[in-house]
Amino acid sequence: MENIFEVSLLIPLYNEQETFPALIDRLKNVLNNFKHPTEIVLINDGSTDATPQLMEQVALADDRFQCVFLSRNYGHQFALSAGMQYARATQGIMVLDGDLQDPPELLPEFYNLLQQGNDVVYAIRKKRKEGIIKRLLYWAYYRIMRNISSIHIPLDSGDFCMMSRRVLNQLNAMPERNRYIRGMRSWVGYKQIGYEYNRSEREAGESKYSFKMLWRLAYSGIFNFSEFPIKFITRIGFITILFSLIYFADTLYKKIFYPEIMPQGFTMITFLITLFCGVQLLSLGLIGEYVLRIYDQVKGRPIFVTDKIIKDKKVSN
Ligand code: UDP
Ligand code: MG
Repeated sequence: MENIFEVSLLIPLYNEQETFPALIDRLKNVLNNFKHPTEIVLINDGSTDATPQLMEQVALADDRFQCVFLSRNYGHQFALSAGMQYARATQGIMVLDGDLQDPPELLPEFYNLLQQGNDVVYAIRKKRKEGIIKRLLYWAYYRIMRNISSIHIPLDSGDFCMMSRRVLNQLNAMPERNRYIRGMRSWVGYKQIGYEYNRSEREAGESKYSFKMLWRLAYSGIFNFSEFPIKFITRIGFITILFSLIYFADTLYKKIFYPEIMPQGFTMITFLITLFCGVQLLSLGLIGEYVLRIYDQVKGRPIFVTDKIIKDKKVSN
C-alpha cells in the first residue's frame, strides 16, 4: 500500500558525511514527537564522499525516508527543485539545509502556522553566526533586492520554510530553469507569514556554497526578479545624451564667440570617450545577461536528471 504522508521534509545534501549522523538523529527525534505522518526526502546532489551510501542505509531500513540521487552535482536550488517533484505530502512541505543550520525542531510550529491558514511559513534569520563580511554582504544584498525587485521578497529569509501543497504544485509547474526558489515562492502569493529564528552555525564540515555559487544565486535573484538593471541603462542613456547636448552647446558657443581658445578640452574628450565606452560595454553586458537567460530557457533541457530513487525501502530508477 502506498504511504500517505501529511508532511514532507526536503533536504538537499552535497558532501555532508560529517553532519549526516547528527542530522538523522535529530530528524528521528523530531518525527517521534510529531503525530502527523511525515516523510523525509533526502536529495543527493552528486556527492563524492560517503553521503550516498549513508543515505542508502537509512532509506533501506526506514520507509519514512525517500532518497533521490541526482546524476551529478547540479547545485542547491536544482537539488531542491528535484526534491519538490518527488515530495508526496498532501499538506505541508518543509525545506531545510542538511547542515543543521535550519533547526528541524521548528517542524511542529511551522505546521501549526500552516494549519492556521497560511500557505507559506518562511523563516527569517534574526541572527546569523557567519563571518562579518558575509553577514554584511547578505544584509546589503537583501536590501538592494527589496528596492529593485518587481515582487516583494521578504528581507533576510532564505529557502528554509514550509509551504502548502498548492504552493508546491505551483512551483513544480513553473518551467523556468534559472531557479531562485525564494523569489518564486514569494511570487506565488497567497497568505505568507514570517517566523523569526536564530540561524545556528554549520554542524560540521565546510560550507558547500562557494563564493562563486553565492554570487550566481544573487545574480539569479536580480535578473530573474528585477527589470531594474535594464531600465537603469535606459536612464543612463538619456542622461548621457542630455550631457552631450549641453557640452555641444557649450563648444558651439565658444567656437562662435571665443574662437581663439578653441583647441582646449582635449582631456575632457578622451575622458568622455573612455567613460562612455565603459558605459556601453556595461550596458551590453546587462542586456546580455537577460539574453543568456532567454537562451538557457529556450534550450528547454530538463532541470535535473535522476540517477535512482529509494522509497518504501525499495530501489528504483
Ligand atoms: N548543497 C547542495 N548542492 C550544492 C551545494 C550545497 O545540495 O551544490 C546543500 C548542502 O549540502 C546543504 C545546503 O545545500 O544542505 C546548504 O548549503 P551550505 O550549508 O553549504 O550553504 P550555506 O549555509 O553556507 O549558505
Ligand atoms: Mg549552511
